[in-house]
Amino acid sequence: MRTAIYPGSFDPATFGHLDIIRRSSKLFDHLIVAVLNNSAKKSLFSVEERVSMLKMLTADYSNVSVDSFEGLLVDYARRMEAGFLVRGLRAVSDFEYELQIAQTNHVECPGIDTIFLTTSLNYSYLSSTIVREFASYGGDIRQFVPAEIIPLIYGKYNIDKE
Ligand code: ADP
Repeated sequence: MRTAIYPGSFDPATFGHLDIIRRSSKLFDHLIVAVLNNSAKKSLFSVEERVSMLKMLTADYSNVSVDSFEGLLVDYARRMEAGFLVRGLRAVSDFEYELQIAQTNHVECPGIDTIFLTTSLNYSYLSSTIVREFASYGGDIRQFVPAEIIPLIYGKYNIDKE
């Protein structure tokens, strides 16, 4: 059984994340989308809200589950008996950081490999930060995130928008 973990903040999940989830769900028997519970980082959505949104958005994939974790990713991966970590690469700017993390994780836990998927071109510019910025000013975010979660995002900024 090949189990992989796709970790991230997902604050909120975007079409870019969902594209990585769709593609990596085909590569592994079980994909765990894992929301990092990082109390040091201020987030728009609580961990519970992010998990519940991701569960809704991935409901159609029978081999994808959603969870949250605290602490070291490699410890969580060991607990879940996952042999792979999935990360998305958008641009060269992601690369240096991701390489460093992947190599550190590999040293910590040689049994776990990081698999990088390059972003689909149409989402390469997309980040949760951009979505939050746009939404906070009432901007149109329909091209960035699924329709189901749009009202939840505007709701966080007290914006009432159809
Ligand atoms: P983190 O805080 O861990 O970077 P994110 O939620 O921002 O969490 O991203 C989680 C993962 O998804 C990262 O590997 C990131 O590179 C990837 N990702 C984010 N946006 C996109 C996108 N538009 N296309 C492909 N991958 C993406």
